[in-house]
Amino acid sequence: MSGHKHDLVVIGAGPGGYVAAIRAAQLGLDTACIELEPALGGTCLRVGCIPSKALLEASERYHAAKHGLADFGIKLGQVELDLDAMLARKDNIVEGLTSGVAMLFKKNKVTRYFGHGRITAPGSVSVTGEQPANIEAKHIVIATGSKAAGLRGVDFDGEHVGTSTESLGYAAVPGELVVIGAGAIGLEMGSVWSRLGAKVKVLEYLDRILPGMDGQIAKEAQRVLTKQGLEFQLGVKVIGVRKDGDRRVVQIEGGQEVACDRVLVAVGRVPNTDGLGLEDVGVHQDERGFVKVDPHFKTNVEGIFAIGDVIGGAMLAHKAEEEGIACVEQIVTGYGHVNYDAIPSVVYTHPEIAGVGKTEEQLKAAGVAYKVGSFPFKPNGRARAIGATDGRVKLLADKETDRLLGAHILGAHAGDLIAELAVAIEFGASAEDVARCSHAHPSLAEIIKEAALAVDGRALHL
Ligand code: FAD
Ligand code: NAD
Repeated sequence: MSGHKHDLVVIGAGPGGYVAAIRAAQLGLDTACIELEPALGGTCLRVGCIPSKALLEASERYHAAKHGLADFGIKLGQVELDLDAMLARKDNIVEGLTSGVAMLFKKNKVTRYFGHGRITAPGSVSVTGEQPANIEAKHIVIATGSKAAGLRGVDFDGEHVGTSTESLGYAAVPGELVVIGAGAIGLEMGSVWSRLGAKVKVLEYLDRILPGMDGQIAKEAQRVLTKQGLEFQLGVKVIGVRKDGDRRVVQIEGGQEVACDRVLVAVGRVPNTDGLGLEDVGVHQDERGFVKVDPHFKTNVEGIFAIGDVIGGAMLAHKAEEEGIACVEQIVTGYGHVNYDAIPSVVYTHPEIAGVGKTEEQLKAAGVAYKVGSFPFKPNGRARAIGATDGRVKLLADKETDRLLGAHILGAHAGDLIAELAVAIEFGASAEDVARCSHAHPSLAEIIKEAALAVDGRALHL
């Protein structure tokens, strides 16, 4: 086995790890990155953000072509689904982006190791697999991400009962699909297969969908998604799934069984630390297995850092990236910071659901006095022109200072619109600052301006 020396080694090439490696190389460190999958880019590029968004877009276009264009005065002949082509398009997009990361590594002179990384001692990592190696590096960054959580009583069979990964490639549209968990994955993948023709039932343990998001916005989103054909059953505990020939039967505690063709379990994700050597070197983990770090992403062991899904918090690709950058900037320059209040989160249903900063529930729980400014999409000229009148922008501002504390959007392009409000929060803007900015007409962004005016009770178009 060959021995190698680097300044910094990253374990895992997801959005957290590969971005950390590139930034470390930009800052002048001799950097290496170990990844056990042949393709770089992690969960996000291979089996997460990117393939799901490719299918969301394709299924939305299919659904619009089949059902949504007559209102616009467009008549089509028979619209047919070519699922194989849709899946192939998704695979091509993934292939293009993952090979793009390999090119970025080359350009930035990041050395890639292909195999399973294990920390053998502070400053030492072994790689096993096709290209075994022993690596010495002063700094080790753990960026091994997460994997789908299982559910007691439910066995994955890789075919009828599975995770988001299988749901990204069903070979045929299921007649009936049961989704367990009304989080981001449940709603996104449920939407995909519902648009393609499946009857989708979402079973959720809590009495609401999207637990991390603003309650009012989540409630409105549930109403809109229900209109689209998704069926929700809230407050239910799944206790098992049994086989019935080619069908599966989902068992609910104290409730009626639900028969279906496929089951998607989307009840959250757990940290990926298998065979990483954490116990051997004494790196502390919390009770759920997440690696414990301080605000500078240092673990309790000198020279070992961790970022991204493996440390918990919001499991988002851009959160992992920010942490990767802050971690290596801290190592090299002594400065590095992530403002978690300014990290947006977006669920890519139609319409999209987005939020940044505090929810109304969080402000209430913290006893913060706040004002609400809310404005619906319906009166907005652009929303009417594009046929997207569902939803609203809701802003939360400090009652005394008017400083923007949270922003929540249900509506078309919410994922893009939220960027303005993330910037506003990062810059410490007040609701009045946002209201004073000119927003192009006719644009959906005008709804943000109106919501900011509404914080002070002076919306113009309602
Ligand atoms: P990961 O992306 O999980 O990468 C970790 C990498 O480490 C993996 O490639 C793994 O193979 C590798 N690895 C693990 N152990 C070892 C080891 N011992 N040695 C070598 N390599 C190892 N987030 C968003 O922000 N937007 C979205 O739209 C979005 N959509 C999603 C859709 C789905 C279906 C899923 C599942 C997730 C989605 N996410 C989304 C979440 C996002 O994918 C994660 O938050 C993000 O990938 C976390 O990045 P990471 O770098 O921490 O870890
Ligand atoms: P999640 O945490 O977003 O949602 C899981 C849901 O399952 C919750 O509503 C939870 O109450 C419910 N649940 C838990 N146990 C249950 C049970 N036994 N029965 C029924 N319901 C149960 O998790 P996810 O949807 O699996 O997504 C995993 C991670 O990936 C999340 O952290 C998410 O942020 C990330 N992700 C992000 C995006 C995006 O940003 N667009 C898309 C997909 C995934």
